[in-house]
Amino acid sequence: MTVRDKLMSLPLARQLTVDRRGLGRAAKSKGSESFVPRIRDAEMAQSICPYCAVGCGQRVYHRDGEVIQIEGDPDSPISRGRLCPKGAASEQLVNSPLREHRIKYRRPYATEWEDLSLDEAMDMLADRVIAARENGWEHDMEMDGGRAKLNRTLGFAHLGGATLDNEENYLIKKLFTALGAIQIENQARI
Ligand code: SF4
Repeated sequence: MTVRDKLMSLPLARQLTVDRRGLGRAAKSKGSESFVPRIRDAEMAQSICPYCAVGCGQRVYHRDGEVIQIEGDPDSPISRGRLCPKGAASEQLVNSPLREHRIKYRRPYATEWEDLSLDEAMDMLADRVIAARENGWEHDMEMDGGRAKLNRTLGFAHLGGATLDNEENYLIKKLFTALGAIQIENQARI
C-alpha cells in the first residue's frame, strides 16, 4: 500500500480531498461497504403513532410476523416523516423485554403487586362496576326550580393509556358512556 493509499484510508483525508461535504466516499470504509439496511427485505405497513393526539404517521417494518423497526412516514401530511423521541422509540412498545404481559393488581393496603388471571380481573371489574352503579346512580338533580335529568354515576371513571389505538378508544368511550361514567380520559396528551 502506497503512502497515498494509506492517507486516503483516513476519512478526514478523503473528506478534505475528494468529498468536501462528507456525504459519500469520506463516510465509507471497507467495513461500512458490507453494511445493509436492517429493513432490507422487510415488509412495511403504514400506521399512526399511538402515543399522543398529534397522530404522526409511522412506517412499521416487519419480517416473519415480527416488528423489526418503526420509522416516520414521509407520506404523512401531519408529520412528513418526523417522529418525536417517544414515537421514534415505539418499536420498544412491542419488543421491549420490560413489557408487562400479565395483569398487575395491588390490593388495598398491600405493598406488593400480584399477578391476576384475565378471568379473575374481569370478574372483579364487573362486580365493581355493578356495585358502583347500584350504590351511586344519580337519576336527576335540582336545577332552576325543577329536576334536571342526569342518569350517571361518579362511582367509576376510565383513564386509557397511550398504547390504546383509535378503534379501542372509540369502543371504550361508547362503553363507559353507556355505563354512566362521565370522566373518560386518555393519557395521550402532549
Ligand atoms: S408521541 Fe411524538 S411521534 Fe407520536 S404522535 Fe405524538 S408527537 Fe408524534
